[in-house]
Amino acid sequence: MSIFAALRTLGHEQLLFCRDPAAGYEGIIAVHSTVLGPAVGGTRFRPYASEEDAVRDALRLARGMTYKCAAAGLPLGGGKSVIIGDPSAPGREARLRAHARFVDRLGGRYLTAEDVGTTPADMLIMREETPHVAGLPGRSGNPSPVTALGVFRAMQAAARWRWGSDDLSGRTVALQGCGSVGASLARRLHEAGAALVVSDVVEERAAALAAELGGRAVAPAEIHRQAADIFAPCALGAVLNDATIPELRVEIVAGAANNQLLEPRDGDLLEERGILYVPDYIANAGGVINGSREVLGWSEEAAAARVRELYDATLRVFELARAQRVPPHIAADRMAEERLAAGGGEIGQR
Ligand code: NAD
Repeated sequence: MSIFAALRTLGHEQLLFCRDPAAGYEGIIAVHSTVLGPAVGGTRFRPYASEEDAVRDALRLARGMTYKCAAAGLPLGGGKSVIIGDPSAPGREARLRAHARFVDRLGGRYLTAEDVGTTPADMLIMREETPHVAGLPGRSGNPSPVTALGVFRAMQAAARWRWGSDDLSGRTVALQGCGSVGASLARRLHEAGAALVVSDVVEERAAALAAELGGRAVAPAEIHRQAADIFAPCALGAVLNDATIPELRVEIVAGAANNQLLEPRDGDLLEERGILYVPDYIANAGGVINGSREVLGWSEEAAAARVRELYDATLRVFELARAQRVPPHIAADRMAEERLAAGGGEIGQR
């Protein structure tokens, strides 16, 4: 597909190819939408198998940010950028600085933060070249507990929709990934009286969490097959696919991982199996809400209140899904698209 055909199809406003030979830097900045506010999205720093892969990643991730911000009701748009290359190779700082100078030329239409391959410390370096950087150390802080709170609220809403009560006590949650978000979510669920089955590829991590919370640890390949009430993917993307969905033995899927559906049709497959799916970018919006504190000047309390409201956002998605007779992943997209259309923006096609 030609570049302009891709931009038209996906609805992007702008795609920049940037290079600074003296710094050994080549990068891409994708601005999907500034209709609702400045485009926000992290800087990913990694080698790509091909230029096409780098462009595809930047375009796809920028568009995902537009949906996430719009669905969360934030006055922000979606963008993403990539620095192409090995982040551990010499000259890293020069490349970060060069990238930041290109971010600066956009004059605030795009605000960046850390992402895969970059750190809050890198944002301090970039901040010396441009004010359009968030995710600085000591500002909005570690987003993971806030993300976990949002996932917990989304789970409560799903429980209410499915079982008529948002009380999670006595429910069993199969939780995949005991990292920053997963462990924090597991502790909240334990406090709420839920039983836990956990797994992690780092098996000691799962064993330690299970011991702490009186739960059970299982091998990574087994977690999605557990008989439980809720499956919570908090590790990787694409875990909901042709192979795993037929093996699920739960009534609800709600977790923190990004891009949980391998393909959109996997959302249909969940619906056909009668499993209630909380679209990932609704459940995990706590991270971006927390990060936008720096951009929007919100207090910690104001941001936490917005995160707790993900309960209502989740219920709105289910209501829309029922009214329009579509699965929740489609309803969430429509909710975001309606907000963009109300702001006069185009969203492109799927
Ligand atoms: P993390 O790296 O701290 O934790 C991920 C955990 O998953 C690790 O313990 C890892 O060993 C484990 N893991 C990897 N592959 C696994 C597998 N196949 N089976 C079981 N465990 C496996 O990451 P995190 O910050 O907790 O984020 C978890 C997910 O949530 C990621 O997909 C991330 O993109 C998404 N997310 C995180 C935030 C946030 O605020 N941190 C916000 C939005 C979305």
